[in-house]
Amino acid sequence: MCNSHDRFAKVEAEALRIHDEFWLDTICFFRNANEIYRRFDEWKDIDRFYFIPLRLDMAYYIRGLTLRIAEPPIYLGTFIRNTLENLDLFSFKCPECGRTVYPHGYNGSPLSGRVDLQGTCDCGWGGYVTVSGWHARSEVLKRTQKTDRRRMIFRLRRKNTSTIQELLVWLKKKSYLISNF
Ligand SMILES: [Zn+2]
Repeated sequence: MCNSHDRFAKVEAEALRIHDEFWLDTICFFRNANEIYRRFDEWKDIDRFYFIPLRLDMAYYIRGLTLRIAEPPIYLGTFIRNTLENLDLFSFKCPECGRTVYPHGYNGSPLSGRVDLQGTCDCGWGGYVTVSGWHARSEVLKRTQKTDRRRMIFRLRRKNTSTIQELLVWLKKKSYLISNF
């Protein structure tokens, strides 16, 4: 479910080499982002899935300064909700087939204002599309994070956080139960 010879294989090899489980789990998200988006309604109310932390690189480095589109941790639910509630800013058209693609990550430069929206289309295309508007996206994502803070403080028990791999197993079981009963 999470290992494959695709365009993520290189970063996966690096994550394996340094035994970075957190990074490996985020790569698992990259590979399964479309299904996770599609089934958002099924898992969004479950805190242990909503607050899975993602290891997304959202930093831009210049002259010893680190500028981030948003401060970590970026939680899975926050990231997905942010896209779905702001499709004009975060979704993009597939350069191959024109379908709408939801990103699995984005980063850019506050100086040039450009942002690379990275995603995979159902047609098989994968890569990124560069758009302008770093500041607008940064503001919106930070606002989405802020609205999730209250939910996190009141409902999250740290020990209950899950992983992308566990979420996928849960979704798979759920589909199986629905199709067999
Ligand atoms: Zn496509």
